[in-house]
Parts: sequence; C-alpha cells; structure tokens
Amino acid sequence: MDCLFCKIIAGEIPSKKVYEDDLIYAFEDINPEAPVHFLIVPKKHIKNAEELSGKDKDLIGHVFLTAAKILKEKGVTNGFRIVNNCKEDGGQTVDHLHFHVLAGRSLQWPPG
Ligand code: 5GP
Ligand code: ZN
Repeated sequence: MDCLFCKIIAGEIPSKKVYEDDLIYAFEDINPEAPVHFLIVPKKHIKNAEELSGKDKDLIGHVFLTAAKILKEKGVTNGFRIVNNCKEDGGQTVDHLHFHVLAGRSLQWPPG
C-alpha cells in the first residue's frame, strides 16, 4: 500500500523511534511543534478516526496509556496534549491514523 506511515512502520522510510510494540509504533515528528512532539500510529492501517470500529477500542485505549507512560519516562510532569486530526477540516495530511503527542511548552488554546 502506498502509505507513508505504513512505510515508516515497515522501516522502508527511516524514522526516529520512540516506542514500539505489537500494536503501535511511536516516532519523532519530522517537523516538531514543541520540545516533545512524537506521533503514535497503529501498526494496522486505519485511515482516520472516522474509520474506527468497536474492535479498535482496546487499541485506542492502548495509545493513550502508552502516551502517558512514554511522557512519564521522558520526565514530562507539567502536562501534555494528545491530538488527532481527522480529514480535511481536521487538518489531516497523512491518511494513516496518528496521534500527535506534544509537551515541553505551554500550548495555546483554541487551535486555529
Ligand atoms: P497531520 O497533519 O496529518 O495531523 O500530521 C502529519 C504529521 O506527520 C505532521 O506533523 C508532519 O510533520 C509529520 N510527517 C510528515 N511526513 C513525515 C515523515 O516522513 N517523517 C516523520 N517523522 N514525520 C512526518
Ligand atoms: Zn498506512
């Protein structure tokens, strides 16, 4: 499949790995928007959050629990943001479900 993040997961395109297990892969965002900015992607190709089914409940729970665990290990204690952009209006640019994990500075709200 011609998918950038599937190629990153397969190691066909290099990335800076943050974490990996059977279900998910986490890697540094190539264009970081905060001192800590990595992406967590399911290894299974899911296009976006709209395409999730009930079968993916545990997977998404695992993403959030793992994000918190990674941040704790990185020494982040002052909070963080987990973001999913979905489709055009959500600002999604890569059509493989991914969660941005941002930390290390005070983040603005609301987003643009
Ligand atoms: P989106 O805009 O779809 O929510 O987020 C896509 C993210 O993927 C962007 O933050 C962008 O910087 C990141 N990205 C795009 N191409 C690559 C790449 O080849 N390698 C890495 N590590 N990140 C990428
Ligand atoms: Zn993919």
